[in-house]
Amino acid sequence: MGYREDIITACKALESDGLNRGASGNVSVRDGGDMLITPSAVGYDLIEPKMIARMSLADDTGAWDGPNKPSSEWRCHHDILCARSDINAVVHTHAPYATILAIARKPIPALHYMIAAFGGPDIRVCDYARYGTAELSSHILAAMEGRNGCLMANHGMVVGAGDLTRALWLAGELEALAHQYVHTLAIGGPVVLSDAEIEETARGFESYGVQAKEPVV
Ligand SMILES: [Zn+2]
Repeated sequence: MGYREDIITACKALESDGLNRGASGNVSVRDGGDMLITPSAVGYDLIEPKMIARMSLADDTGAWDGPNKPSSEWRCHHDILCARSDINAVVHTHAPYATILAIARKPIPALHYMIAAFGGPDIRVCDYARYGTAELSSHILAAMEGRNGCLMANHGMVVGAGDLTRALWLAGELEALAHQYVHTLAIGGPVVLSDAEIEETARGFESYGVQAKEPVV
């Protein structure tokens, strides 16, 4: 399967996993000097491979190739792929629990060892800027320094990874951590793991293989 089919498969997984609140999700993949990204305003059940828009990473005017306009949130995908050579796939959604925390502007602490998959002991909330703006991209990149994802203030979440399988997995893990955090706050808040405990977990993940879909413990 090519990247276009992979993107459609990922969109359907976002839907079936409950991460695609109100068709908010969008997905991109690096393809050489270009990115392929989901179209704007097309239901996931109707997306065909030709509708995935191709945009040059060397151009930030919003120009695209293909019959369908790219997602209105193409700019943050474009800017993450340009700034982060370690990231080849980006998933953005308004998944329910991640969005609740983003609205409350609560970063996720190390309440579960799985947070180590994001590159450190927390998941930050980036500052607010209107969707689709270069200002929002720069806030996201700052919050993703040393991390594979962040919450976006009053908006949602974004994750990036070396490939789309891993990015999709991270999106599900981020939502799981957000779900755990929201409910833990209701019973007095989590006992937070130390930075050393998260570093130890990260080393364990590395020995298992960084591209592993789910670490075995
Ligand atoms: Zn959005």
